[in-house]
Amino acid sequence: MSQHVVGGISELFLVNESGDIDLLTDAAFIVENGIFTWIGKEVELPAEKTKDLQQKAVIPGFVDSHTHLIFASDRVQEFEARMAGTRYEAGGIMSTVTATRAASDEELLAAYQKRVAELLRNGITTFETKSGYGLNIQDELRSLKIAATLTDEVTVLAAHVVPSEYKENRSEYVRLVIEEILPKAREYARWVDVFCDEGAFTIEETRDILEAATHLGYKKRLHANQLKAGEGVKLGIEMGCISIDHCSHLSDDDISLLTDSGVIATLLPIAEFSTRSAFPNARQLIDSGVNVALSTDCNPGSSYSTSMSLVIAFAVREMGMTPREALKAATFMGARALQRSDVGVIGIGKRADFLVLDAPSHAHIPYRPGVDLIAEVFKAGQLVLDKGM
Ligand SMILES: [Zn+2]
Repeated sequence: MSQHVVGGISELFLVNESGDIDLLTDAAFIVENGIFTWIGKEVELPAEKTKDLQQKAVIPGFVDSHTHLIFASDRVQEFEARMAGTRYEAGGIMSTVTATRAASDEELLAAYQKRVAELLRNGITTFETKSGYGLNIQDELRSLKIAATLTDEVTVLAAHVVPSEYKENRSEYVRLVIEEILPKAREYARWVDVFCDEGAFTIEETRDILEAATHLGYKKRLHANQLKAGEGVKLGIEMGCISIDHCSHLSDDDISLLTDSGVIATLLPIAEFSTRSAFPNARQLIDSGVNVALSTDCNPGSSYSTSMSLVIAFAVREMGMTPREALKAATFMGARALQRSDVGVIGIGKRADFLVLDAPSHAHIPYRPGVDLIAEVFKAGQLVLDKGM
């Protein structure tokens, strides 16, 4: 049996089963066989310390419930053009599709592994990722197969945009997704997602795809209300989605539906930052009782970052969240957006995925934007990254 007894923790970030946050100071914990077995004040520690953090804060490993990591090339020219005044549109996705289709399996896998290493450096210990840059049977399936090599949380997003070869025949592409791609993708993916927005898929198309996903036993999530207000949130809730992602343009009705359903609104502020768009009003959502998660949305078009710390900084500075609400949204709520109860929280019986910060409290994350404060990363009680801070 492996046992680690960790003390000298200036602040331990805890969230209980009902979602209440508790900051335990002068804390300690014990990890046995990768699981937290004791958590409390250091003075009450029942065993000899094996590690002293010398007054550093400990938080759960981040849970990134929304990324797009399987792609080739980048879109830096599009970013430069956008910063010079060109508006962001969903259609830019096709340039990544062209590059991804042209890449070999080895190239795609190597690029994915590099991005996952970057996630880990940024403290993300659990992540979801998607297809969506293949947009035909062969390239969607190989993207999912590659995705599944490094995470259990794989999503088929064949309905990302209608590929250009089906531009004049959208219904044929929707049929391909429903009848061919979704049934075959079940081998690798447990989630289905649809980009339901202007320039992507309509409400009717989204409904048909989500219905097919339900029949095939998938869990569902949705990209909706990113580019404009519409019926996406309403449809997602009606169809039993676990999380509605983006939620940048919401009506009062949408907010009431999210509150009443408990469906998670996953906010992705780097997408707003990188497209120079208005940030969603997280304060209003939380005050209305909506469950809010935060995620990087790492993708080459609208949000090419793996920094959950930066996400938290934006959520606090631009979206009205407190530092503790933002950290809970990036850990505990991210796990809920993936229907995971084993990660995203420091608690007895949970997997010991945690981060040691080079700072005395979690609030230093948004207080010191752009500064890497993640000193050590642990997964299942094992040190997987030590930056020597
Ligand atoms: Zn996305």
